Amino acid sequence: MTFDTIIVGGSFAGLSVALYLARARRSVLVLDTGLPRNRFAAASHGFFAQDGSDPTAMLETMRGQVAVYPTVQFRDLKAMDAAHDEDGFRVTLENGEAVTGARLLLAFGVNDILPELPGLAERWGKTVIHCPYCHGYEFSGKRLGVLNLSPMSAHQATLIPEWGPTTFFLNGGTIEPELAAKLDERGVTIEHELVDRLVGEGTSLSAIRLRNGVEQPIEALFIGPRNRFNSDIAERLGCAIEDGPLGSVVTVDEMKATNVAGVYAAGDITRMGHTVTFACADGVMAALAIHRSLVFGDQPS
Ligand SMILES: Cc1cc2nc3c(=O)[nH]c(=O)nc-3n(C[C@H](O)[C@H](O)[C@H](O)COP(=O)(O)OP(=O)(O)OC[C@H]3O[C@@H](n4cnc5c(N)ncnc54)[C@H](O)[C@@H]3O)c2cc1C
Repeated sequence: MTFDTIIVGGSFAGLSVALYLARARRSVLVLDTGLPRNRFAAASHGFFAQDGSDPTAMLETMRGQVAVYPTVQFRDLKAMDAAHDEDGFRVTLENGEAVTGARLLLAFGVNDILPELPGLAERWGKTVIHCPYCHGYEFSGKRLGVLNLSPMSAHQATLIPEWGPTTFFLNGGTIEPELAAKLDERGVTIEHELVDRLVGEGTSLSAIRLRNGVEQPIEALFIGPRNRFNSDIAERLGCAIEDGPLGSVVTVDEMKATNVAGVYAAGDITRMGHTVTFACADGVMAALAIHRSLVFGDQPS
């Protein structure tokens, strides 16, 4: 069987595509490895009707609602490769099987490259966070830190005082005098000593221990880590890729079409601002574009 569309990545973006194509009575195969990016967080914020919900439960509900449609199939398997064939695209799965689809939708997401600092990885998504709009409110008025990871970090540090008193941990880095002045204007304390580890009970955070033994009391640490694609399928297909400030981005037009005919992309891999709302909206846009191309033509080259 050739599916109308094969979706690589069945999370917020991919399931939104599946829902719209299913409602257009099209056949869809969703491939998914079950590792959405926000799985480290106990609650997702900012998505209407689900503010504060468990992200895993949200995805279970979404998947259940999509599964009601008879033209949708799920395979909980990794897509390893994809290539053109006479029917459209042939996707090779991790078990060696191959599936074919007239169109291909890439929504395999990104993963975050966390700095190697004792006590950091286990607090990711809980008290070590990247997005103040997603998780900052829960730390309102608390003592907050920003860890210097890249030139973007100083900009992050200028924003964070909106949520609470902020310390910027330079951690061996340097800062331009104009940015230091801006941070001073915003009331941010700059800590020059190297960071040794994160300290706290369980996944809570009580302090940053510095190399000189001093502990700076902090209840949440913001970081802006680089990210990388979960799959190299976009590159393998010849999709154009751009460099973003924190990682690569698949180039898409306003309808989420890539430069490769018949291949569409949605969600975190296609943009710099990363939220559930954007991922779902991207999925809806891609589904409309895919459906129109199935009806009016736009055969893969
Ligand atoms: C710690 C943390 C907390 C966050 N909190 C919030 C929040 O509160 N509110 C908010 O709006 N946003 C939040 N985000 C951002 C949000 O998680 C992402 O914007 C969103 O998950 C992007 O959806 P997506 O569908 O593009 O990718 P993802 O949700 O990452 O899903 C990608 C899917 O593709 C699968 N996959 C990967 N490779 C393959 C392959 N080769 N074959 C098959 N399947 C594959 C993965 O297993 C995964 O299921 C948070 C992010 C992080 C890191």
